[in-house]
Amino acid sequence: MEEKKQFDVIIVGAGPAGCVAAYQLGKSKLKVALIEKGTFPRDKICGDALSPDVTNQLRLIDEKLIADFQKLSEKRPAKKIHFFAPNHERLDLDFKKKLDSYVAKRIDFDNFLFQQLKKTEHLDILEGVQTQALSISEQGVSMKTDQGTFHAPIILGADGANSFVKRNLQGKQLDKDHYCAGLRQYYQGVEGITPDSGIELHFYKEALPGYLWIFPLPNDQANVGIGMLSSAISKHKIDLKKMMQELITTHPKLKDRFKNARAIEKVKGFGLPIGSRKVKCSGNRYLLLGDAASLIDPFTGEGIGNAIRSGRVAADHILDAFKVKRFDAAFHRAYDHELYRRMWSELRISRFLQKMLKYPWLFNYVVKKANKNEAFRTLITASLEDVDLRKQFRSPAFYFKLFFK
Ligand SMILES: Cc1cc2nc3c(=O)[nH]c(=O)nc-3n(C[C@H](O)[C@H](O)[C@H](O)COP(=O)(O)OP(=O)(O)OC[C@H]3O[C@@H](n4cnc5c(N)ncnc54)[C@H](O)[C@@H]3O)c2cc1C
Repeated sequence: MEEKKQFDVIIVGAGPAGCVAAYQLGKSKLKVALIEKGTFPRDKICGDALSPDVTNQLRLIDEKLIADFQKLSEKRPAKKIHFFAPNHERLDLDFKKKLDSYVAKRIDFDNFLFQQLKKTEHLDILEGVQTQALSISEQGVSMKTDQGTFHAPIILGADGANSFVKRNLQGKQLDKDHYCAGLRQYYQGVEGITPDSGIELHFYKEALPGYLWIFPLPNDQANVGIGMLSSAISKHKIDLKKMMQELITTHPKLKDRFKNARAIEKVKGFGLPIGSRKVKCSGNRYLLLGDAASLIDPFTGEGIGNAIRSGRVAADHILDAFKVKRFDAAFHRAYDHELYRRMWSELRISRFLQKMLKYPWLFNYVVKKANKNEAFRTLITASLEDVDLRKQFRSPAFYFKLFFK
């Protein structure tokens, strides 16, 4: 007879959200199972940009974590952002407060996080597990896998954009107005990347809302990709793969840079559930984290920072739940509330900026003005560093000043 696999908490998915939740819960006395379908080190299709929010989150979790991250050699600092407006005018933003941001392949960064878990107690880590069925009853959660059936009073779905937990407990709900498609291809030898280069965001009229990116990596490699809102892809019947190839082989600003570059993998694609509206992040005996809770920034496509943040919030909430022995939907509303209390203001601004991309002329104008006017450029740079300053992008006074001063 099969041995009963009884835990206090089941976490599905060992990406940034799941690893951080497990890391935090591993400090408690709870018996936690972290169940991952892949085997580390494993790849994740991504732009690989680790914003200052990611390093801040690591610091908040544990000084030791950030100290170990600083030792990770497979990363490249990114202190600048180079924007290319739809009319191809370039704007370089150099961050005065030295930005603690990097580009690191997810195969390395996720493995770094995953390896940290080996230092925690009370954690059962299972890799290469195929989840098969999930049910919730008054007795608790039962998850059937190819390695047996797991039981617990509560489950955390940290299993990404195609979350098995979400699909089973909330059904399939892909809303193309709140979802992006993204492609990634690693290159070697893209020209024009200097030791001082930052990350490049290229906006094209035909790829809005969305952008093509070139993010420099160590060893003369670069993460090249494109992401775009799924409803716009469907509406304009866009073949994203073809568009990316055409841009890098024929666009006057890109073709020479890619002439001698070598793609070191086939183009790979993955979805981005963006946080441009609030969704249900919990229910009876479950919480959703990271991409499973649609927490990706709608303007930049960054999701790692919020995935980590949701891991922290979820772990705190679980500890509260065990104190009062409550695992019901009403109790978990506090989790949704806390997630959005911390993230909604920033997600809303990004949703607004994403909508403004409908007006490429406005983007062109902002870039032109920032290039001509140092004070305005400083304001934009400061706004990207500080969410409170960014709120001005939603204020009519900002646009009044933009056009009339
Ligand atoms: C093309 C593209 C570019 C992006 N660029 C950036 C960027 O530059 N910077 C940034 O911050 N964000 C970026 N993102 C977003 C970022 O990748 C995600 O927001 C982030 O990975 C979310 O973390 P997560 O832990 O929620 O999910 P994931 O990182 O997706 O991790 C989920 C984990 O769950 C596992 N899993 C899935 N299903 C199961 C199952 N049934 N059973 C067990 N395990 C399972 C997976 O193997 C994986 O390990 C990009 C996304 C895409 C698609």
